[in-house]
Amino acid sequence: MSVRRVDTIVRGGRVVTATDVFEAAVAISGDKIAAIGPESLLPPGDRVIDAEGKYVMPGLIDCHLHVGPEYDDWKTAPLAAAHTGLTTLLPFVIYDEGESLPQAVARLREEAEALSVLDFGFHFILNHEPHILDGIAPAFAMGVSSFKLFMTYKKRPKRMVSDEFIARTMEQLAALGGLCQLHCENGDVLCYLEDKAIAAGRTTPTDFPPTCPDWTEEEAINRAILIGRLTDCPVYVVHLSTRLGLERIKRAQAEGQRVWTETCPQYLLLTDREMERLGPFAKIGPPLRPHDGPDRAALWAGTEAGFISTVASDHSPRVPAAKEPGRRNIFVDSDGKPIPFGAPSLETLVPLMYSEGVVNRGLPPSWLARVMAENPARIFGLYPRKGAIRVGADADLTIWDPASAWTIERARHLGIAGYTPYEGWTVKGRPWMTLLRGQVLLNSEGVLEQKPGYGRYLARTSPVAPIGGAVR
Ligand SMILES: [Zn+2]
Repeated sequence: MSVRRVDTIVRGGRVVTATDVFEAAVAISGDKIAAIGPESLLPPGDRVIDAEGKYVMPGLIDCHLHVGPEYDDWKTAPLAAAHTGLTTLLPFVIYDEGESLPQAVARLREEAEALSVLDFGFHFILNHEPHILDGIAPAFAMGVSSFKLFMTYKKRPKRMVSDEFIARTMEQLAALGGLCQLHCENGDVLCYLEDKAIAAGRTTPTDFPPTCPDWTEEEAINRAILIGRLTDCPVYVVHLSTRLGLERIKRAQAEGQRVWTETCPQYLLLTDREMERLGPFAKIGPPLRPHDGPDRAALWAGTEAGFISTVASDHSPRVPAAKEPGRRNIFVDSDGKPIPFGAPSLETLVPLMYSEGVVNRGLPPSWLARVMAENPARIFGLYPRKGAIRVGADADLTIWDPASAWTIERARHLGIAGYTPYEGWTVKGRPWMTLLRGQVLLNSEGVLEQKPGYGRYLARTSPVAPIGGAVR
């Protein structure tokens, strides 16, 4: 070891990677990891962090959330996320009317760099307007390597895209080495069933999930996979919610196609029963699935077996006033405007996944490092800079205290939603400390040591295949 001193040593903890858990110290020089090994073999550090009894994980990433004017803003979302142990966010963003993609990248980068305490990148949502595709190549050169298309939401202007538009987008992305994310539900069928329900006066909150049968997700996934095969573009199915959809993805993976997927805590933990309890506040797309159905168990099994690569929040909080009219009609308000989809999830993502996955279901801590650090980093073109504890990587660490138990309360949340579906849930484990690029972000008192604006824009590159296979 040629380095005589390093800036920081994290000692005494159990290092958790996406494949292993082992006792080691981590040496940090500047903003990078300089060495990993027995403390006695590492150079002394100017600062020593004693992580005795803790898990030292790679900095955790939320790779699916929504940030912007209708949601939590670029200051609030990263601050809220930082308190929960996350170190990097990859939100979905949208371009303004009349703006090109490279213009939008530049504008949002400036805005987010001024406000975000966490490192961040952008996925862009593309509306059904062919001219926007001209901006994909320059946006890719600016570090945006993933773009999302909606196969549903027919009632939102230009939101639902045609199969031709999917093919044209994928063709471009394949040539550049990009990734296509898709919200897979059959929008025509959903719209037809919704209109039928409205005409029949079936408009209470519990009437919503039956208008989104599970096969409409499977059908759209099938189409996305086949267009992906046609164009040789890697396909990423966001927020997978059904067993049927998972079975189709498993088949594509077995055939060697680059098809990856994520699920979310809400699909692993909640069911359509929440519609009775929370009404429009549980209206999300895809919907929460039947309480007596096969989906939750299949999704847990799918992530355990490695077919589902990532877990993300799909945080889409709405101000309560936007949701309220949905109590009378879950589909549309009195002006015929859709009741918005979406629920808060960012501030409960990490504690729920540790507590429900690792503690209650006995998954190894490596599972969390896989689905919330290394795999998102690989798929979204950040690996090995992010998502891994290895020499030369950014010194991003989520140091986790597995012992403490606590109760989820919306009163502690910073976001605009005003509620959480998990109010009163008891969880085990909490973030004890996080480091972002070598600096303490969240300290052991639960206080953020960095200010809004500390976060850096992450220029991303092509995807690398995620780690698969059973986690145990
Ligand atoms: Zn989303």
